[in-house]
Amino acid sequence: MSIKIGEIPYKERIQKGIKDDFMRQAVSSAQGRFRTGRLTQAEELGNWEDWRNLGEEIRTHTLENLDYYLQQLSEQVSRRGGHVFFAETAEEANQYVKEIILKKQAKKVVKAKSMVTEEIGLNKALEEVGAEVVESDLGEWILQLDEDPPSHIVTPALHKNKQQIRETFAKKKGYTGSDTPEELAAFAREQLRQDFLAADVGVTGCNFAIAESGSITLVTNEGNAEMVTALPDTVITVMGMERIVPTWEEMEVLVSLLTRAAVGQKLTSYITALTGARLDEEIDGPEEFHLVVVDNGRSKILGTEFQSALHCIRCAACINACPVYRHIGGHAYNSIYPGPIGAVITPLLEGYDDHKELPYASTLCAACTEACPVKIPLHEHLIRHRQIIVEKEKKAPTAEKLMMKGFAAWASNPSIYNMSAKMAKPALGPWTKDGMIENGPGPLKAWTEVRDFYAPQGQSFRSWFKQRQKDGESK
Ligand code: SF4
Repeated sequence: MSIKIGEIPYKERIQKGIKDDFMRQAVSSAQGRFRTGRLTQAEELGNWEDWRNLGEEIRTHTLENLDYYLQQLSEQVSRRGGHVFFAETAEEANQYVKEIILKKQAKKVVKAKSMVTEEIGLNKALEEVGAEVVESDLGEWILQLDEDPPSHIVTPALHKNKQQIRETFAKKKGYTGSDTPEELAAFAREQLRQDFLAADVGVTGCNFAIAESGSITLVTNEGNAEMVTALPDTVITVMGMERIVPTWEEMEVLVSLLTRAAVGQKLTSYITALTGARLDEEIDGPEEFHLVVVDNGRSKILGTEFQSALHCIRCAACINACPVYRHIGGHAYNSIYPGPIGAVITPLLEGYDDHKELPYASTLCAACTEACPVKIPLHEHLIRHRQIIVEKEKKAPTAEKLMMKGFAAWASNPSIYNMSAKMAKPALGPWTKDGMIENGPGPLKAWTEVRDFYAPQGQSFRSWFKQRQKDGESK
């Protein structure tokens, strides 16, 4: 799997999402819960905007000095007996991890949730060299059993209900219990326990890497990252190159923002930190630790007008606020990064060819920008993407290009414009009812299939204005 999760065309994906009543209901209630949680936490804090400003400041500073902090991180990890590998591409990252797996003759790998390993398709690469990979985050485990891609950054299996999960467990793992969440979770825990104990290698993502100490930290509610980093003898952490903070102090601020913005928690149940390989006097932790720092297109974004997109701390607050996501769900974005941040970052990482529709999957209402705890101007990035798609990439659909050309010719010719403005009302008469157009013709067809359009009122603005001047009245 790469960033792109399928081959279904955009319009079909949208229709599929819109017709999936269960998914829309689940998304809408989750969005409501998460949004209320975030707002309650922001209110309790009292100075949420100050926190957001601080979050933005930290991310801006770090990204502007990324080379310095990456070098510091690398030196600190090496000092603590770890190995650091900088991978320019997904292939390089996968190759490095594959070599470790082969050297260790590892048969089983347990993973703690990681978006970047989804992005580079690591599971598939490891399966190619004969390793069984087990996702240990409950949501990810369910999706892995079902061979289904994630649909949300924080709650990847949001689109599934408990009956569906029960069926998956029964089909893939011989589960015979009920569909109560407690019983399902207990079954998953029991199964995963065997995998944790049998794993040769643990693979994790990284919420924040601390440059000053060379530590990687993971924020979870299930404690699975603890198991993945404490039990196997070899641990490999794969991180996007931007997921770094200078010191523990900044990490503390960003984790506070992350958990509050994501699900309205003051803190998550577990924050796991790992600093290099196990020292002689320590009782747990890996004997061997590798840190893979992935670029995969990120450095191309540095120094551009989109740099702030790399500030993202993957809290999903923008997704939880987005009215478009609410209606189409995560799979419609065809990217492992859905929602507003997905629509911004996916074309930056993988180009416009496969993702040129994403910046249009937005109402530009700016709810995402308002929700973002590190103040990424998401809707402005979406507008800029649209501009680039039309003006630079010339990727606007042919029908749209022709329509715009026609509109420009029509609107810039006063006599044609005035004449057609006068004729519009009688011409659209057959489709007009009570001042509204239903099931309109030509260019109005798509619009009026889903909502009514105001019928022209007969008097143009120009004639109204002329009349007003003549009458000398203010109407
Ligand atoms: S863009 Fe902002 S709101 Fe969206 S996931 Fe990233 S940090 Fe969270």
